[in-house]
Amino acid sequence: MLMEDFRLAVNSAIRAGLNAKVTSRNALAKLAYKDFRKEHPNMYAQHLVSSFEVAGSVLKNLRRRWGKGPTHRIPYVRRLMMKAENQAYKLDRENGVIDLPIRAGCHVKLRLVLSDYHRIYLNDRTLSLGSLTLLPDRVIIAFRKSLPESYIPETALSLDTNERSLDGVLLSEDECLPVQAAYPDVPIIQARHHDQRRSLQKKKAHDRRTSRRLCRREGKRERHRIEYRMHQVANAVLGFAEEHKSTIVLEDLSWMTARKRGKSLNRRLNSWPRRKLHDFIEYKAAWKGVPVIKVDPYNSSRRCPICRRLNHSRMGADFECECGWCADRHVNAGINLLQTAFPEGMAGGLRFSPGAFQHDVVMTLYDPEMGARLEPNGTSRSVVQS
Ligand SMILES: [Zn+2]
Repeated sequence: MLMEDFRLAVNSAIRAGLNAKVTSRNALAKLAYKDFRKEHPNMYAQHLVSSFEVAGSVLKNLRRRWGKGPTHRIPYVRRLMMKAENQAYKLDRENGVIDLPIRAGCHVKLRLVLSDYHRIYLNDRTLSLGSLTLLPDRVIIAFRKSLPESYIPETALSLDTNERSLDGVLLSEDECLPVQAAYPDVPIIQARHHDQRRSLQKKKAHDRRTSRRLCRREGKRERHRIEYRMHQVANAVLGFAEEHKSTIVLEDLSWMTARKRGKSLNRRLNSWPRRKLHDFIEYKAAWKGVPVIKVDPYNSSRRCPICRRLNHSRMGADFECECGWCADRHVNAGINLLQTAFPEGMAGGLRFSPGAFQHDVVMTLYDPEMGARLEPNGTSRSVVQS
């Protein structure tokens, strides 16, 4: 009833908008509000306004597609739905009951089916309510969160992104520790799915459609498996950074596309979801108020952080310099990222010094086999949040 009315209102707003060539919500409202009032005399005014908004976004999409090619048919919203802005409904956050007015003196009460997961968000008072979307089978409530102020960092956590791990250092006042978050299974998963797709293509060579469908499914599965791991790694990194009040230093990946490499290496590097991992880390960091700095990684794997000399020889697992500096190759790159981020040292006089660098321990932020690990100082701490 209500949703059908809403759909009707959206669709007539789309047509009205097309006739008058307007797409913004306000323009639509000015144009059509009076007629709409007559057509839907019983509808709550707020709902009419939000129907203009939905219609406006449909029209905007349509216009974007027009820009690309030949005209499309007039869009029609088939799906039963209804959207309400946060002024247009009330939510009892303790009991999960939505109070939605339909017309003067008539309200609908919806009882939400809540799990503990939902309650976390409902009970979090820093989250304010956004829009409400009703679909025949479910209810979507958007939350707004004003981002927290980030803290003043006391340590720096620099991480170089590699195929199988994030490596770098944690620089604090009294020491500099190599750190690692390993995900050795990610390239294995990728290789396996790549082979799987190859063999599917061969097997179903006579049937392109089936082959494409199966490959797409295979790709989706791969994405889910990898993203699940990326989330775990990002959570572990964020938990660690929060605990040590660190600022996170990552390499800026925008240079990635610019370089030319062999075909197979390119496939491996491009399919490797570095950027996705960085995205996860960045948005989780913004959510938690952890500062992130991104720096140009130019030469970070070849430079000596002590004497600034470049080492062009093919390297083994360790980076060795004529000046006597020696460290794990990936960790060395992490140190260089740190140096690039804070060439003058951090605020508070914190800076990298080779003397404080601990060569013999590696602090594990994440390891797929052991969710929780012992820290070098012996206190057990779980770093995985599922
Ligand atoms: Zn050197």
